[in-house]
Amino acid sequence: MMGHSHAVSGAMLYAASAPFLPPLLLHTTLQPADILMGTVLCAGAALLPDLDHHDGSIANFLGPLSKALCRFVAWASGGHRHATHSLLFVALMGAGTWAGVTFLGRNFTLALTFFLLALAIRALRLCPPGDGPEAWITIIGLSALGTFGMNTWMPSSPGWLPYAVALGTLAHLLGDCLTKKGAPLLWPHKERYEVVLIKRSGNSVETKVLVPIMSVATFVLLWFTALSPTIVN
Ligand SMILES: [Zn+2]
Repeated sequence: MMGHSHAVSGAMLYAASAPFLPPLLLHTTLQPADILMGTVLCAGAALLPDLDHHDGSIANFLGPLSKALCRFVAWASGGHRHATHSLLFVALMGAGTWAGVTFLGRNFTLALTFFLLALAIRALRLCPPGDGPEAWITIIGLSALGTFGMNTWMPSSPGWLPYAVALGTLAHLLGDCLTKKGAPLLWPHKERYEVVLIKRSGNSVETKVLVPIMSVATFVLLWFTALSPTIVN
């Protein structure tokens, strides 16, 4: 599955679930801004498992820095589609984000926001194509703007952030399970799980059917939960 499809799937799952969860679960009542920001950050989190792939189109999202990071993640996790494609990784990302938001506070939240925004901007192709500096310098600029916005207009600690990160990571695994190589969900067990719906990454089932359906669903959900002024609380 392509990075773009993963990002759209993360966005859709967040838009389809977060506004309907009881406030207790997310430790906050979601405002429209929380829903919109959460949707974008969840789209970014849906790329996290592929940080184990230094050649992927995503790897260059922060230039040489992220390429080095991807090499490290690949080395530490046993290569592409290993540890980072497991439910254990989903739990670790969710718990790690919760711990960071809870114990490290605002700086952690803003750093993670910047990182996830950068991933989302790259995957959703909101920057120039290619791996050159014009791509990643644009990404850094846009992510910095978004992080500034988060800092300015969303002062409280976002209780929804751990949920967005875990859900995005999970969305990625589900997406990879639709492809031929599957994902080792129960890693360290080696078995891979798959229901092959997409025979070749980027084929027409993925780009002409799944992605358009997920994109429209995301916009419709966001319209009713965050954008339409008559329905918001
Ligand atoms: Zn993957």
